[in-house]
Amino acid sequence: MTRFIAVAVPVPTLDLLTYRVPAGTSAPPLGARVVVPIGTRAVTGLVVSYLAAPPPGMTEAGVKPFTKALDDHSFVPTPVVELARWTAEYYAAGVGDAITAVLPPKTRDDRADAHKHRRVAAITAAGLGLLDAADDAAAASTTGRGLTARQREALDILRGSPDGLATAVLATRGVGGAVVARLARSGLVAVRTERVERDPFAASGFTVPPVDAMRRLTGEQMSALERLTALSEARAFRVALLHGVTGSGKTEIYLRLAAAVRRARRQVLMLVPEIALTPAVSALFQQAFGREVAVQHSGLSDGERHDQWQRIRAGDIGVVVGTRSAVFAPLEQVGLIIVDEEHDSSYKQDESPRYNGRDVAIVRGQRADALVVLGSATPSMESYHHAMTGKYERIVLERRIQDRPLATVTVVDMREEYATEGPDVIVSRALRDAITLRLERGEQAVVLLNRRGYSTSVFCRQCAGTVDCPNCSVSLVVHGAGAATKRARCHYCNYSVRVPGTCPSCAAPYLEQAGYGTERVEAEIVRLFPTARVARVDRDAIRRRGSLDALLMTFKRRELDLLVGTQMIAKGHDFPSVTLVGVISADVGLGMADFRAGERTFQLLTQVAGRAGRGEKPGAAIVQTLYPDHYSIRLACRQDYPAFYERELHFRTTMRYPPLVSLINTIVKAKTFAAAMDDAADLAARLRADGGDGTAFRVLGPAPAPLGRLRGEYRVQFLVKGLNRRRMRDALAAALAARPDLARRTTVDVDPLSVL
Ligand code: ADP
Ligand code: ZN
Repeated sequence: MTRFIAVAVPVPTLDLLTYRVPAGTSAPPLGARVVVPIGTRAVTGLVVSYLAAPPPGMTEAGVKPFTKALDDHSFVPTPVVELARWTAEYYAAGVGDAITAVLPPKTRDDRADAHKHRRVAAITAAGLGLLDAADDAAAASTTGRGLTARQREALDILRGSPDGLATAVLATRGVGGAVVARLARSGLVAVRTERVERDPFAASGFTVPPVDAMRRLTGEQMSALERLTALSEARAFRVALLHGVTGSGKTEIYLRLAAAVRRARRQVLMLVPEIALTPAVSALFQQAFGREVAVQHSGLSDGERHDQWQRIRAGDIGVVVGTRSAVFAPLEQVGLIIVDEEHDSSYKQDESPRYNGRDVAIVRGQRADALVVLGSATPSMESYHHAMTGKYERIVLERRIQDRPLATVTVVDMREEYATEGPDVIVSRALRDAITLRLERGEQAVVLLNRRGYSTSVFCRQCAGTVDCPNCSVSLVVHGAGAATKRARCHYCNYSVRVPGTCPSCAAPYLEQAGYGTERVEAEIVRLFPTARVARVDRDAIRRRGSLDALLMTFKRRELDLLVGTQMIAKGHDFPSVTLVGVISADVGLGMADFRAGERTFQLLTQVAGRAGRGEKPGAAIVQTLYPDHYSIRLACRQDYPAFYERELHFRTTMRYPPLVSLINTIVKAKTFAAAMDDAADLAARLRADGGDGTAFRVLGPAPAPLGRLRGEYRVQFLVKGLNRRRMRDALAAALAARPDLARRTTVDVDPLSVL
């Protein structure tokens, strides 16, 4: 008999808690919600396992009983609860953090008002009878029969809608609540309450042109689809890497593969890296699968997310489209998981649990005997490595649809440009001429600079000091071109000040701004092309949900000529009229002391070049750089992925970085540098004594983190490298268990995407 339950509560850093099943009650099912006492609080958690005895060191009487069960069924399906537990363990996070990722909003309690309701009024038989009688009497004086003119009008309106009308709709037609209430009291109208579903699709307003269902697949698409369909029919776990150049028609393959999986009555999970990509993708899936499609992403309102989650849970859904967190969607019959743009760093969550949605998707697929398709034009080093070593199946699309050529790429060496045009040039002659030509021809262009702001630093010509953030070890970025709106801002903690007139260190009045970001490029483009219709796309310009969709749609409708933006414009979007892509400072990311800098740069350049020439007309890309000979830039311009992979693998092998070894980045934070250093050194010493001296794995550091100070705290890091991830994680867990005082000040990042 079950005497105890292990409960996961959505409280950061808390692990599983044990509660007693009170005598005379039965244990709630696994996955059910229970209210439990934590100190003086009552918290809603999920039952994750049963125990026959109290935890070691506790007496039966010492274990508190749970307060009440909210469900008599699994609220979250057990495989999803198990997936959350796996995530917590693998990413060295508390179960509490992982459970938070799994629970939909508004379900932490049992209030029914998480659902949205509306009141609907319908005319009754008595009401109809009265109206008919009044019509027959033709006496016009219905008021004589006890009806006011308003009431009579309301009944007339309702007669036209036998199923009834929402009271909100009646109100817009002049029938207020008092009139409806009066009619209801006299039995002429019946009012009922209906549950309504909040519809995120209606709000997005995103439409796609109808796809010709009979459209012929290209030969490459056909063989890819045949192979993938065969894999999905095997009903066994398999990972396929769909490596298709930009514009090779991967989405079409996803849609048809999904249809095959639906015919076999299994469900489909379609992950995209960014909220911005969900409207377009979900619109395509809706066109193909209608009301069977649900969306899940953090851009939805809590209410919308709740309703979509409930529809999925109820089993009404065949296809879920969503971002990272949708990997935990409560589906029970998953047959296919697609991870589009699998290389994208947005799949990694940058707070605990620091999971990669792609990797959790693979584990989910494995447990569900499902096919997992990873799609990309620029696969991550990890995925390509698995494909090369035979762990994944590699399926290739080498050509664009209709054999459209890839964009021709021209590299502009900015050292030469500075020599001839002066040191202040932002837009090179080649790019200027190319934009002019596009404007003349009425074609569109995209200009990328992966750095926000107007100028990236303010420095003093007398003492060479920079204006830095008081909380973080970075210099402030100037935003806003006009003197009135100009402010210097920290991109990490959001601290901001008016741009000072004199140097904060030496008081000299010789402050100068250096470096430039997207705002400056936008201003420069507007200055060079005063009649062009230009808009900027970056995190500063796009603050509201929906405004990015709206802007991208405006661009797609060709009401804009040119977009300037950060990597936001490089991703996945399909703009057939774009024939030119300009890249300002292709080397922005290369200066970073990060082992993935080369991979990131290669991906970004290849992806952004892939935005050009997707329609009838061929595309061109112009790449400005100070390092034209760097292999990431050179090979991205040739769009030669295999050559890049070989070159990068060589670097990773010699430097011992992923995918050749596993990596865990640990950062210890403290109020003083000395404290952070001491604590990190203590943890590192414990690890070295437990296999980290090279016998089982290696510990590098501690050393000040590249971002040495953040939001007022000092940061010291050490890296754990080795082949046996579990062994490394266990040693780290043991070291942290010995120092519980560090739990809140230590960040553990398993499989980090960056070590900055
Ligand atoms: P990718 O995701 O591989 O970059 P997309 O799936 O966006 O490419 O496809 C590029 C374009 O080609 C889209 O506009 C798509 O509608 C179109 N397309 C895809 N398959 C075909 C086909 N078989 N015939 C004609 N057009 C196609
Ligand atoms: Zn700061």
